[in-house]
Amino acid sequence: MIIVMRPDSTEEDMQRVISRLSDRNYGHHLSRGESRTIIGAIGAPDDEKEVVAGQFSVLPGVERVVPILKPYKLISREYNPSPTAVMIGNAKFGAGHIGVIAGPCAVESQEQIMQTARAVKEAGASALRGGAFKPRTSPYDFQGLGREGLEMLANAREETGLPVVTEVMDVRQVGAVAEVADCLQIGARNMQNYDLLKEAGRCGKPVMLKRGFSSTITEWLKASEYIAAGGTLDIILCERGIRTFETATRFTFDLGGMVAARRETFLPIVADPSHAIGVASLVPQMALAAVAAGADGLAIEVHPRPDQALSDGPQSLTPAAFKDLMKRIRTVAEAVGAEA
Ligand code: PEP
Ligand code: MN
Repeated sequence: MIIVMRPDSTEEDMQRVISRLSDRNYGHHLSRGESRTIIGAIGAPDDEKEVVAGQFSVLPGVERVVPILKPYKLISREYNPSPTAVMIGNAKFGAGHIGVIAGPCAVESQEQIMQTARAVKEAGASALRGGAFKPRTSPYDFQGLGREGLEMLANAREETGLPVVTEVMDVRQVGAVAEVADCLQIGARNMQNYDLLKEAGRCGKPVMLKRGFSSTITEWLKASEYIAAGGTLDIILCERGIRTFETATRFTFDLGGMVAARRETFLPIVADPSHAIGVASLVPQMALAAVAAGADGLAIEVHPRPDQALSDGPQSLTPAAFKDLMKRIRTVAEAVGAEA
């Protein structure tokens, strides 16, 4: 249920609405726009919605109450019809700006992340990626450098000015990762780790939520609602491929799903062709296709020596290939009325 306050409503009117919501044990989310305030009620049971909407609609200062029929509300277009931008440091994602997050799958050494950061910055990337905590399918594969990796990312930011996007895998890591990261990445394998989603939503940093590779668009959007309910709307969604019967590519890049999600939510959506396709030579074409389809950004794996990478080497672009791709991204962005 969304309560739209009148432009001339007072602070007292708003506080009254909030206290009535808490009387009913509903949570709330405030969105103060330029001309009006919107209050999202969290937790109203479906069978109470109609009666409660009627009761709130007659409170002083309330313009209208919109019952939300979708299973997600705070991130829905019903709540906020126009797509919004999310900032990661000084990089803008959405509202006509295409942000490009580039870097290795994993931070492997100070030299490796520094070298990559310099190269992607020079090519025009707007943020640096690199996992310090890695969710590997096998427990015997490289698991990441952990806290040491976070420090290396901070050093790379210090030198290049690029904001840092890095993955958090566990509720216990949220504090440490949020201290360094400009944006927390929640990976595909953790998309439905609800405690992690809630904690990330409370940490004060933007969150990029990857789509689980066996999740529907609705499940993905409901997962992002958990982050929103935690307290932030600085959420970026990331389509990274889903599992289908097809084995020619690592996953199946679901650009159709991306545009379907775009219709439902105002949150920016980034596309990750690297994990979706899994083959470096095919990544550029799909990155361009994503931009043409209206992606608000890209996440692309780049490694100075893909043949020596400790994870995801086969899908990682060399710095030279990334530089070439950036030029083409700008051309396609311009053609669809966006800026990269
Ligand atoms: C990654 O970004 O390196 C990663 C592990 O991605 P995903 O969660 O999409 O598999
Ligand atoms: Mn990876």
